[in-house]
Amino acid sequence: MGEVKHKERKEKTKHTNRKMIIGIGLSFLIITLIVGVIFLLFIPNVKLLGSRVITLKLNEEYSEQGVKATYHGKDISQEIKIDNNINNDKVGTYEVTYKVKKGLFTVKKKRTVKVIDDIKPEIHLEGAMEVNVCPSKKFDELGFTAIDNYDGDITNKVEIKENEDEITYIVTDSSGNKTSVSRKLIRVDNEKPVITLKGESTIYIEKGGIYNEPGFTATDNCEGDMTSAVEIDGSIDTSSSGNQVITYTVIDKNGNKTTVTRNVYVKSSPGTLPSTVYKNSMIYLTFDDGPSNITPQILDLLKAKNVKATFFVINHSDDLNYLIKREHDEGHTVALHSYTHRYDLVYASVDAYFDDLNKISNKVEKIIGTAPKIIRFPGGGSNTVSRQYSKGIMSTLTNEVLARGYHYFDWNIDCDDAGSAKNKTDVYNNVVNYLSHNKTNVVLMHDFQNNYKTLEALSDIIDYGIANGYTFAAIDMETPLVRHNVLN
Ligand SMILES: [Zn+2]
Repeated sequence: MGEVKHKERKEKTKHTNRKMIIGIGLSFLIITLIVGVIFLLFIPNVKLLGSRVITLKLNEEYSEQGVKATYHGKDISQEIKIDNNINNDKVGTYEVTYKVKKGLFTVKKKRTVKVIDDIKPEIHLEGAMEVNVCPSKKFDELGFTAIDNYDGDITNKVEIKENEDEITYIVTDSSGNKTSVSRKLIRVDNEKPVITLKGESTIYIEKGGIYNEPGFTATDNCEGDMTSAVEIDGSIDTSSSGNQVITYTVIDKNGNKTTVTRNVYVKSSPGTLPSTVYKNSMIYLTFDDGPSNITPQILDLLKAKNVKATFFVINHSDDLNYLIKREHDEGHTVALHSYTHRYDLVYASVDAYFDDLNKISNKVEKIIGTAPKIIRFPGGGSNTVSRQYSKGIMSTLTNEVLARGYHYFDWNIDCDDAGSAKNKTDVYNNVVNYLSHNKTNVVLMHDFQNNYKTLEALSDIIDYGIANGYTFAAIDMETPLVRHNVLN
């Protein structure tokens, strides 16, 4: 019996304990609920609008995306204190803080702002982006700079990777922005060696005298000093008078060949030649209106006499293009005269003039690879024929061509082979009688069709010039301009 009672009491105690636990639990729940309600009622509610993390580019203005705060259901957004430490010209991570205080409670929120640099550095290469480099030779750096919008000059951080046909320049800024630029290396050598003669290029000696070679040097862009590789052709026989030629030739490893010549003029008897060579007495032979059927013979003669001249070409059949090429290849100057050589078309207007000039320029460029900058006006700068087509056009053109980088040449000696000269004697006299040691002699001649009188006079004119201390040369951009007065 007693055992049963004991059991009952035990049950009773258990029951009381459970009640107590539930009671305490409930109390806690109620207190928590009350505290929760108080919190909800007395703590301001702050909510960020927009993103929690904002990324700004360097120097980009930060614009506030807004924040909302409520208290007791009332909007108290205007009471929020907003602060930030953003420095938008400095890369970094910044914070915007939002703070609002109500009674005992202060609520704080944060927004992260990242200022980044996403602009790549710039690499500037000195010199060309494509350079010719001698085969199997190290490339000599032409220079470079690297500038970054944020880091400034970072040239010293540039990494260079070199291989046979390319150099790559790579640089990375402090934000990891990477730039790479390449320079193409073209492994060719198409530069000829240069031979420099010591002494004069025309030497005068007495008959029976002794010729002493004054010497020479040769250098090459790839091989350096090549003087010992120069081959000399020709020997001087001082027992026979006249002009003799010594040829100096050198060929580099890549087959580029240079030939220069020296004239040695053996006097027929003492005193028949000037004892001094006039150093700056130049004769520029110029041939207009070609090429034609006599141009090959003129070129042959010039070659035999080792004389360079200037050809002011016009448009002819393409079958004659090879002569323009030959003029160029043999060291003469190919210059521009006119495409049509028709005064009514050429001088119709300034634009018409340049259209015509461009046409002959394009044609010549296709043949010789460069567009000549030396020109001669049809009829010369002093022509008056243009007046009947455009009054005053020569005054405009003579200035305009210079402004466009051309050098135009008239002449101060006219062999008159397009005028009154009837035969080779007339041509010869019209030239040699007007040569002077006190001027830049620019001789007007023509290599138009069948102009045999000029061809036949040419040899004697050259001999006269050499015998009298003149030097023949082709016009280049350094030649002093010889120009007429403008009459229209
Ligand atoms: Zn002409």
